Amino acid sequence: MRYIATAATALILLSSSVMFAAPKRYMIITNSAISRSEPRSSSDPTGQKLGFGSIIFSDKLIRNDTDFDFLEIAGEPPRYVPFEMTIEVPSVSLSHDKKSITTDSDEGLPLLYIPKDLLPVNSMYSFSEERILVKKTMLKDLYSLLQAAKKNGHTLFVANGFKDLQTRIREYEEAISRNPKQRAVPKPVFSSFATGLVIDITDEATGMNFEHEVKNDKAWKWLHENAPRYGFRSGGKTYRFEYSGEKSRRSVTPGPTFAETINERIEVPSICTIHVLKTATNKKASFMWVHHNEKSAGKTLKYALSEYKGHSLYISNNDKRNLYLSYGRRNYFIDPNRIFTARGVSKFLTRHHKSLSRKGRKSLTKRITDIRETILTSIDWHKNKYLIVLHSSRPGSDFSIEEFNRKNSYLTYTNPDHNPKNLFFTTSLQDYYFFKSKQFNVVYQRSIEDDGSLSIYAAKNNLPYINIEVEEGNDEVQKKMLDLAIECVNQQFKEKSL
Ligand SMILES: [Zn+2]
Repeated sequence: MRYIATAATALILLSSSVMFAAPKRYMIITNSAISRSEPRSSSDPTGQKLGFGSIIFSDKLIRNDTDFDFLEIAGEPPRYVPFEMTIEVPSVSLSHDKKSITTDSDEGLPLLYIPKDLLPVNSMYSFSEERILVKKTMLKDLYSLLQAAKKNGHTLFVANGFKDLQTRIREYEEAISRNPKQRAVPKPVFSSFATGLVIDITDEATGMNFEHEVKNDKAWKWLHENAPRYGFRSGGKTYRFEYSGEKSRRSVTPGPTFAETINERIEVPSICTIHVLKTATNKKASFMWVHHNEKSAGKTLKYALSEYKGHSLYISNNDKRNLYLSYGRRNYFIDPNRIFTARGVSKFLTRHHKSLSRKGRKSLTKRITDIRETILTSIDWHKNKYLIVLHSSRPGSDFSIEEFNRKNSYLTYTNPDHNPKNLFFTTSLQDYYFFKSKQFNVVYQRSIEDDGSLSIYAAKNNLPYINIEVEEGNDEVQKKMLDLAIECVNQQFKEKSL
């Protein structure tokens, strides 16, 4: 920690009334130090004690080859303090009351701040010999989290909590002297440990050795997926958590099986069941399987759940593609992917059920509208969250990229080496170009020809949407396409945030 001496501007902030303009360096006295009138004097009757935490400004270092280096504190006469007794604090600014300095990044927390309501963590949950203090408000949720971890086979402890400035400086210096590149112990001034709301969590194996972050171990995975339910969010490192008290309902237990994740079944009597899988942590995408007869799409949905933990929805109706609604003595079919606009429903009924009476039409329309509303209000889908929809077409059907090539309302890219029935269907040009750049068959829905399909609803409402179509049986291809779709989603959000 050496620097070249420049202009001599310094003062003792805490005891001086001199106004000061933009000093270059801020130093804190780390231990009690005596300021002297001369750098080399060993005894000085005018010596002034600078207590721990005193703040000085200085950018003049007096080198001393035989003893300590000294910092010069400007004044009349100037005074000197051993360089070793100070620590450099970069980019901090004076707070308005001038009694403390605050960091820019720390939301104005005074340097010597100590929260009022600190309590020790119960020793059975503490990894340290010393008391670990945290804000009282956190304790109940903290214990609940650690108990839940234990039930799931993970014995976890609290390793770090509130630290006062002196402790922060000491630990930082120790950590730096062991490993100058270490990042586990934060710089004393910027340390979030000052808040009493930040903790490190550890297990027996890791102990206090945080320098190599553990990312994939089961315990850490569990912790990250469940901590938000108890009001803790990750502080950027595997082991560091900040308590906000705000509990996220979206967290899940990891690795749910398909059956376990069905946590809502909405029965539409004698027509279908709408399954809403709410266990989700994915913030960027939800998933949907529309046609119950499309088995590859169903398998890909399972994959999407286990791999990407997204909110999902599917419709079950005895392995059939269409929904059947009875009226009078007859059953009337409707394709669930033609119900998403009123116009689409009307067109479908006119085209396929001409003989239906006015009253019958009204009755069907009402029930179909209810199903639509139930589906749309159950999907977690909005302007900042994609819906990725999965379809798999029958081998004998006409469905293929060539069918879209012939129509003016679509922009297409075809890779002649690919199965023409495997394609991405997009409603945004950016997504289209993404898949094109990956040389995958892709269709962009250029104009809105209202057939009541979900892609039309998406385009009309400006909701991010990707449909992955494969030929039935191409499960493995569809999984890879899903990976690619997730890559696309991630890229689009990345660009949005720039
Ligand atoms: Zn389908």
